[in-house]
Amino acid sequence: MLWVLCVDGLSFDIWEEFGYQLPHQSEMGIPQECYRNGVPFTPDVWGSMFLGSVYKHPKSKETELNPLRLRARRFLRNHGIAWSRRGAKVVPKGMGDAVPSYLVFQQMPHKTVLEDYNSFSWGIPAVCDGFTFKSYQGNVQDHEAFKSMVFSTYCRSFDLVAIYTHLIDEVAHRVIRRGDRNWRRLKYLYSEVHALYQAITRRGEEVLLVSDHGCLGGHTHKAFIGSDQEFQVDNILDVRGEIERRMERILGVKG
Ligand SMILES: [Zn+2]
Repeated sequence: MLWVLCVDGLSFDIWEEFGYQLPHQSEMGIPQECYRNGVPFTPDVWGSMFLGSVYKHPKSKETELNPLRLRARRFLRNHGIAWSRRGAKVVPKGMGDAVPSYLVFQQMPHKTVLEDYNSFSWGIPAVCDGFTFKSYQGNVQDHEAFKSMVFSTYCRSFDLVAIYTHLIDEVAHRVIRRGDRNWRRLKYLYSEVHALYQAITRRGEEVLLVSDHGCLGGHTHKAFIGSDQEFQVDNILDVRGEIERRMERILGVKG
């Protein structure tokens, strides 16, 4: 079986800085079409990755909010003021989101690579039905579920499993400087991802570890891919082909 561990915001340079080295690992380019407001846009990148072509989420944040309200929210956020219905509070610059967090990202009408196989997928923005940007607590709970699934025997009855965690992105947005509380938290979360990767490979199963972009303070411009096996991937749009090549080999060997 093949696992695709989808880790939002995992940065190649931070991964290396924390001392992790997979037999094969590299950065992936991100098409400009997947950018919003000058940075990679999470739902568009994940959607494009599993589709193998550029995907623009139709229910984007841009179209949901009145442009003036959005500009006002961005202004406040950029000046370190978080706004909610309960009023304003001061937060570190760049933290939080300029838009409401209740939007649900529904499944795309197109066919992703996941539908071609006996697969199980969970929580991937724009790919799995019902993804919502959550509170910090919600992301912590989802991250615990993400970890549990690696050890789930249920997952192992599938040929392809793709599961997602948003927590590294969330914590990386909050880092003000290296060594601060959130940086240490980030270091722990990276170590967890590495440990989960190893747990899977020790069982003799294959893993592709992928991110949609890096993140430190805000989104950075390269995605990440790592594996025990060689891959032919330059760009997030190549991931679908890589999954297909591996599935062909894995199912061929199995059959
Ligand atoms: Zn993201």
